[in-house]
Amino acid sequence: HARRIEGVDKNIWVEFTQLAADYKAVNLGQGFPDFSPPDFMKEAFCHAVSGDYDLHQYTRAFGYPPLVKILAKFFGRIVDRQIDPMENILVSVGAYQALYCTFQALVDEGDEVILIEPFFDCYQPMVKMAGGKAVYVPLRPTVKGKAMSSRDWALDPEELASKFTPRTKAIVLNTPNNPLGKVFQREELQVIADLCVKHGVVCISDEVYEWLVYDGAMHIKILYPATLPGMWERTVTIGSAGKSFSATGWKVGWAIGPQHILKHLKTVHQNSVYHSATAAQDAVAHGFQREYERFGKPDSYFSQLPQSFHQKRQRLADCLAAVGMQPIIPEGGYFMIADISAIKADLPDSDDSDEPYDNRFVKWLIRNKGLATIPVSAFYSPEHQREFENYVRFCFVKKDSTLSSAEQILREWS
Ligand code: PMP
Ligand code: GLN
Repeated sequence: HARRIEGVDKNIWVEFTQLAADYKAVNLGQGFPDFSPPDFMKEAFCHAVSGDYDLHQYTRAFGYPPLVKILAKFFGRIVDRQIDPMENILVSVGAYQALYCTFQALVDEGDEVILIEPFFDCYQPMVKMAGGKAVYVPLRPTVKGKAMSSRDWALDPEELASKFTPRTKAIVLNTPNNPLGKVFQREELQVIADLCVKHGVVCISDEVYEWLVYDGAMHIKILYPATLPGMWERTVTIGSAGKSFSATGWKVGWAIGPQHILKHLKTVHQNSVYHSATAAQDAVAHGFQREYERFGKPDSYFSQLPQSFHQKRQRLADCLAAVGMQPIIPEGGYFMIADISAIKADLPDSDDSDEPYDNRFVKWLIRNKGLATIPVSAFYSPEHQREFENYVRFCFVKKDSTLSSAEQILREWS
C-alpha cells in the first residue's frame, strides 16, 4: 500500500455506525435526519428522474449549469458580491469531496494546516493524505459550572497566533462547528482573518450547518467583504445540500471561492470524480430556486429548519441534565456534547490500554443499553484526546419518537 494511507485506516463512522446497526440501537450517533426531506425536494428529485434522457446522463464536470447559476445568485446576494457561476463554484459529491479536492489542490508535502479542536474528524486524514501536517489548536471551556453553552468555548488568540509558521498553508474553520455546536462570533472571525491575511494563509471555511443557528446566534461568513475585508481572495467556503435540505444521502456539496484557487480544486475534481449525480444536482437547483424566492420569509425551509430543531435540542438537553450528563448547549448545528464524568458506568477493562474512556463508554452504551452516540475524543488529535475523553456527542436531528426512545433508555438506566 501507499505510505499516504498509513495511519488513516480507522474511521469512526464505519466503526460506530456498524456497531449501532449490529445492536439495533436507538441511533443518536451519526449526524443525519431520520425523517424525510421536505416534499418539494422529493418532488423535484422524482421530476428529475422521470424524464427520458438528459438528467440520466453526464453533465458539466464542475456542476450542472442550472445548479451553479442558482448557487451563484443565492450566495451572491447573501455576501453582496458578484459570484461567477462558471469560475467561482465547484459542485462536488457532498461537502466531503469539496474538502478532499481543497486539500489535494492546495497542500504540498510538509505544508502545515491548522485544525481547531474539536474538529470534524475527516480533516486530519485528508491533510495527511495530501502529504501535509496537521497542527492543532483547541477551543477551551472558559467558564466552569452549570448551563454551559458552546459560546463559552473559545480559542486563545495568542495560542492561535503561535501556530502560524512559514509552512502554514491553510486553516480550517467550521462554523457552526461539529461536534460542539460553536458559532464563531464576528470578533473571533476577525482574529482568524487577520492572521490569514498577515501570513498569506488560505481559510477553508466549512459551513455545512450554516442555516442551523439557535437562540438568536448569527452565522457569519468569514468571506463576507462588508465585515471581514480581504478574505474573499483567500477563502474556500464549503456547503452541503445534504445538510441544507435534510437529504444527506444525495451527496451534493459545493465549494465557492476565488477563481485563482477554485481552478486548482477543479483540476483534482475533473481527474478523479468528474461530477456528482446529475438528477440530484437538478433537484438541489430547484430547492435553491425555491429558497431564493422565499429567503427570510416564514415559509422558507432554511428558516423553518432551525425552528423545528430548537425544541428537539431543548428536549435532549433536559433529559441529559436529568440523568446527570451535563450538556453543553450548542448555538448551532446538529449536535450536543455532554460531560459524562458524573456517570458511574461499570465498564469492562479495555483490551487496548490506549483506548480513551469515552470510546469504551460509547461501546458499552450501545451493547448494554441499546443507545448509540459518538465519542468526542474522535474529534481531537492524539495529543489532546485524553484531555477531552469525558464527553460524548448526541445528534438531536431525529424524529420525536426516536428522541422518546432515547429518553426512555436514559431515564430507566439512571
Ligand atoms: N463537514 C462537516 C462539519 C460535517 O459534519 C459533514 C457531515 N455532514 C461534512 C462536512 C460532510 O458533508 P456531506 O454529507 O455533504 O459530504
Ligand atoms: N457529518 C456526520 C456526523 O458528523 C456524518 C459523517 C459520516 O457519516 N461520515 O455525524
